[in-house]
Amino acid sequence: MSQRTLVLLKPDAVQRGLAGEIISRIERKAGWRFAAMELRTFDRATLEQHYAEHVGRDFYEPLLGFMTSGPSIALIVEGENVVPGIRALAGATDPLAAGAGTIRGDYATITRENLIHASDSPESAEREIKIFFPAHA
Ligand code: ADP
Ligand code: MG
Repeated sequence: MSQRTLVLLKPDAVQRGLAGEIISRIERKAGWRFAAMELRTFDRATLEQHYAEHVGRDFYEPLLGFMTSGPSIALIVEGENVVPGIRALAGATDPLAAGAGTIRGDYATITRENLIHASDSPESAEREIKIFFPAHA
């Protein structure tokens, strides 16, 4: 099924010089294409919307601090089964539980700084695209 998803290359990905590697892994998948891509330092208000489901969790404030610490790259990716597909490429939230060959499994060690966000359902993708790319909503 053709669908679209919202991907964020988090500040650690940009700061560590891993953005190209991650973008390349996505780009090489047959049938996927980039519909939008932008380097941007997110403000708190944007992230409060994005991470609304996590308000009150112990990791919430450190997560927002991290996510506003420097530039990220936001993307819309379109294509066949791209929502579960990029979740699979990313690997488990905790990088130590993420398999070898996944982005988090290969390059991250702590849960907060796990390099990439990818929408968890087509409904989440549409909600998140509105937040980061209102012109594409
Ligand atoms: P995912 O990004 O895999 O969908 P969640 O939606 O559960 O994961 O969490 C959002 C983000 O919050 C994670 O990607 C990670 O950066 C951070 N996070 C989640 N759980 C923890 C935790 N236990 N400790 C620190 N950071 C966390
Ligand atoms: Mg999530």
